[in-house]
Amino acid sequence: MPEGDTVYRQAKRMNEALAGELVTRSDFRVPQLATTNLVGRTVLEVASRGKHLLHRFSDDLTLHTHLRMDGEWQVRASPFDDRRVRNAFEIRTILGTKKSTAVGWRLPVLELLRTSDEDKAVGYLGPDLLGKDWDAVEAVRRLQAHPDATAADALLEQRNMAGVGNVYKNELLFLRGLHPDTRVGAINDLHALVALAHKLLVANKDRMVRVTTGDPRPGRNVWVYGRAGRDCYRCGTKLQPHKHGGGTQITSTTFCPRCQPEGSGGRPPAPSGTDEQTA
Ligand SMILES: [Zn+2]
Repeated sequence: MPEGDTVYRQAKRMNEALAGELVTRSDFRVPQLATTNLVGRTVLEVASRGKHLLHRFSDDLTLHTHLRMDGEWQVRASPFDDRRVRNAFEIRTILGTKKSTAVGWRLPVLELLRTSDEDKAVGYLGPDLLGKDWDAVEAVRRLQAHPDATAADALLEQRNMAGVGNVYKNELLFLRGLHPDTRVGAINDLHALVALAHKLLVANKDRMVRVTTGDPRPGRNVWVYGRAGRDCYRCGTKLQPHKHGGGTQITSTTFCPRCQPEGSGGRPPAPSGTDEQTA
């Protein structure tokens, strides 16, 4: 599942390629937008909001998309010939300008709305970890409002703060010494958890390889994500999978039983400047 940093990068790349340009090709391959034609409009901006993407056009129009599990936006040179690409049937939209073409693959959410109505689609989101208006105090306040939520669920809840996906959830819990089932109300230092989420996403927003350990080598770049059954890099204990959530929202967290003991509130508030975490 794409995390906020991936979405941010895709938006940034499209913004650099498309902003200020006139749409010369408009092709929607989803029933609800089949008759939509954006040719002649100007792309004002492409922005991310948490894990949502917003293509803003002239005359108060926004294309709102979400990548969910495996959606993707790519920038290709114009003219883009989709008959020459593999898996063209997975293309949901093609937006071309004279120089560049944005191609949306496997997008499960694709809707047009007035730019002035964007809040209807993304207004519920908490502060955006990669937004210009990032607000750590507000993120902490939103987390504190649900003290009985588990730390793992609370980190994924985009209403608290927007941008954390499964990878960062795993890494943040490990780095703060939190068992996935620790209740938010029992976390020793919520401010440090939020600050670390911000630090990690910012550090990785322009990187191709996501690094939370300070070591970009493949297999060493993360502490626990995807490493169940292997040894903890910090203490050598075998990492374990842990399922949480309900219904269709079940996700798995890999954790170290020794570094993230059950019932612990995680690492105590540290004197400023001594956080050992590296990004
Ligand atoms: Zn450990």
